[in-house]
Amino acid sequence: MVSITNHMPTAELQALDAAHHVHPFSTNAGFATKGARVITGADGCWLSDSEGEKILDAMAGLWCVNIGYGRDELAEVAARQMKELPYYNTFFMTTHVPVIALSAKLAELAPGDLNHVMYSSSGSEANDTNLRIVRTYWAEKGKPSKKVVIARWNGYHGSSMGSGSLGGMKSIHSQGGLPIPDIHHIGQPDWWSEGGDMSPEDFGLMRAQELEQAILELGEDKVAAFIAEPVQGAGGVIIPPATYWPEIQRICDKYEILLIADEVICGFGRTGNWFGCQTMGIRPDIMTIAKGLSSGYQPIGGSILSDEVNAVIAATEFNHGYTYSGHPVAAAVALENLRILEEEKVIARLQDDTGPYLKEQFESLAQHPMVGEAKIIGAMGSLALTPDKATRAKFAGKEGAVGFMVRERCFANNLVMRHVGDRMIISPPLVISKAEIDTLIERAWKSLDEGMARAKAEGIF
Ligand code: PMP
Repeated sequence: MVSITNHMPTAELQALDAAHHVHPFSTNAGFATKGARVITGADGCWLSDSEGEKILDAMAGLWCVNIGYGRDELAEVAARQMKELPYYNTFFMTTHVPVIALSAKLAELAPGDLNHVMYSSSGSEANDTNLRIVRTYWAEKGKPSKKVVIARWNGYHGSSMGSGSLGGMKSIHSQGGLPIPDIHHIGQPDWWSEGGDMSPEDFGLMRAQELEQAILELGEDKVAAFIAEPVQGAGGVIIPPATYWPEIQRICDKYEILLIADEVICGFGRTGNWFGCQTMGIRPDIMTIAKGLSSGYQPIGGSILSDEVNAVIAATEFNHGYTYSGHPVAAAVALENLRILEEEKVIARLQDDTGPYLKEQFESLAQHPMVGEAKIIGAMGSLALTPDKATRAKFAGKEGAVGFMVRERCFANNLVMRHVGDRMIISPPLVISKAEIDTLIERAWKSLDEGMARAKAEGIF
């Protein structure tokens, strides 16, 4: 077998990659002409590539490397666990110590009576689990007609059949026969793009009240649950107006609709508290977790259930689970990650020290001529690009073209920032230092300038 290593020339690695690897969320044919960047290592907030470049990762991978890269403790725990018990399942009346310890820890950290964890290997799988849980819950309570799950346009909950259906991404729905039946979408609380002349507060209230209208139109006896991210991530880091979540909570309480908080991004410190529902002041019945649970060091996700939801599900045989549910190595690594987050006071430091600095610096990007709004909560932020700040105008031509130009410049300037349409978003490791924040802002400003120059050259700014 040919040995393929970090030391091979980049072009050869790229050619092999293009020939045999199908990338997620990509036009794969394109890799034949422009190879993928080959990431070879990482430490703290920095990635290294096969050309020897050092890149500041302002996305923490895919919003997940909360404790930063290169923590030996996690590698050591994984090696120890692999030697002791590399795999066993938790079906058929068996369990193991890592999954027991992780579940007890999550029950301690999760708010309220969210005390029971069912595991998966990803956020998508966990949301598929949630779909089955909420429908089974109502069926067991003698209300099998309560099947519809209400979600939001431009929400993201994964890309499997169930989770992709819950999400409100039209690009996902357009491929492969999604959404599945009995999913209903309402509008998102994105005031910048959709708020028109309304105040953010009135708009937030109006969008929340779409939930009530949907329940009334569909029939209370048909609706099982509402699912949403406390702060939409992949949709562009949409921080809802302050009026939004209290009204959603009121409506869920009034109609006894289960509230699922998808904490896949917001969980484990991203918004400045352990969970986004704490930042938003809501009381979910179920939380979806993944990403920051292990800081991405192992694939693990799950659904944390309230006492009441669990009691109903626990009374029946729930025919659901995955080979890797509660995988011992993933569970042990997740537990070690939680220990680091807690003992090193990573979230408290973000709240009290680096977070306010990041906020101040990030918000200063609103002074850039092409940035209409710079909003950040904890360590997730978004810049709305616009040709006219006063009217919150969209660029002429294809939506996202300018965002893509800026993203390309970030890439060239060794900064990983993502674009969602014409928004630029960040979600750095929670351990980012003030000096690294300065670098992030400098590179972002430079990339905005260069993107703007290109937009001008093409006549769209
Ligand atoms: N929910 C949310 C809020 C997410 O952001 C994501 C991933 N970006 C998912 C679910 C899906 O998680 P995964 O990619 O692990 O399946």
